[in-house]
Amino acid sequence: MRRMRVQATLPRRGSRAVAVGAVTIGGGRPIVVQSMTNTDTADVAATALQVAELARAGSEIVRVTVGTREHARAVPAIRERLLAMNVAVPLVGDFHYNGHKLLAETPACAQALDKLRINPGNVGAGSNRDARFASIVEIACRAGKPVRIGVNGGSLDPELLARMMDENASRRPAAPAQEVAREAMIVSALESAQRACALGLPADAIVLSCKVSGVQELIGIYRSLAARCDYPLHLGLTEAGMGSKGIVASTAALAILLQEGIGDTIRVSLTPEPGGARTREVIVAQEILQTMGLRAFAPMVTACPGCGRTTSTVFQSLAQEIQDYVRSRMPEWRARRDGVENLTLAVMGCVVNGPGESRHADIGISLPGAGEAPVAPVYVDGRRTVTLRGEDIGAQFRRIVEDYVARRYPERQTAR
Ligand code: SF4
Repeated sequence: MRRMRVQATLPRRGSRAVAVGAVTIGGGRPIVVQSMTNTDTADVAATALQVAELARAGSEIVRVTVGTREHARAVPAIRERLLAMNVAVPLVGDFHYNGHKLLAETPACAQALDKLRINPGNVGAGSNRDARFASIVEIACRAGKPVRIGVNGGSLDPELLARMMDENASRRPAAPAQEVAREAMIVSALESAQRACALGLPADAIVLSCKVSGVQELIGIYRSLAARCDYPLHLGLTEAGMGSKGIVASTAALAILLQEGIGDTIRVSLTPEPGGARTREVIVAQEILQTMGLRAFAPMVTACPGCGRTTSTVFQSLAQEIQDYVRSRMPEWRARRDGVENLTLAVMGCVVNGPGESRHADIGISLPGAGEAPVAPVYVDGRRTVTLRGEDIGAQFRRIVEDYVARRYPERQTAR
């Protein structure tokens, strides 16, 4: 039996639709992939370049830090440079502590952004807090920009937490402190959204998030949040960590919520390894959605793990080569050929599972394991077509992939 085709969307819990530039979050639309730069925002050239790299890797919204006057002044220049590079990805400004001041001083900053992110725990304290929050929301209203109210476990509003802890202490029995902290995050998001609406921000210009770094905690918070509001939700495990730990933790948390229909946009907050590409977080986010069958971004390669039957590295090298090749071809294919992202490929290490798994893919190759004849049968649409041999099996297989793509996904006809 051939593999099931990827569905564009699965039935999801209803949420409002929020327009962020040309992208829509929520309202049952496909789940949006986001990322964030780690350059100094004041460095216009470096930041624009990284935004472009993230967008070209598939990030549909990119967030930049706006923490200083220099950052705020750089934002319009970053936008201009992106337009000159033909990159129209929506930009989000991340504000903490002084957002009210920066946005008031540099009106062009809000104009150049497509969404503002406010952390209600980092707006200010006491009477300052409400005035600063109101100032940012009023600027968003005037500029016609949506806002993400992004609560974070590491910067939860201390006054709200203290109030809720006091109320809890007078209850019998009192709830565990961790439960109160979790509830405080949800209350912070919901009360802030209510305040923003009262200040004139339309409900369909609000996105909520409540990020923490613990998987079970995140799942509990988002389940509760989703049951209590219809704002679109931005999902992400904050400070997920490096390498496989960050990927596994993010996937574990996000997959459970997405499977329950919770979440309208995701970010995978990976710590880049020294010298590692920032675009890794985009690829991981896409792979989470694609392996779950929620969206398709690029052809995926099924490969076996290898074992004692694959004593050479030919098979690992070919699997890597093919995955890299299809990713590198995607920008051109996507621009001209509808549906190519659904293509499935298999690169298998020996005769044990090779032919079977290769038949399940659109195109599969079963390489020779130790002791087998040095030939590699290729399967196309479930049927064995040719047998490759020689030193350049990779190049021969790539040509088969190109021919298949050209035949199966013909170029779109452009209207004259
Ligand atoms: S397909 Fe062959 S090489 Fe790959 S894991 Fe299975 S037995 Fe090992």
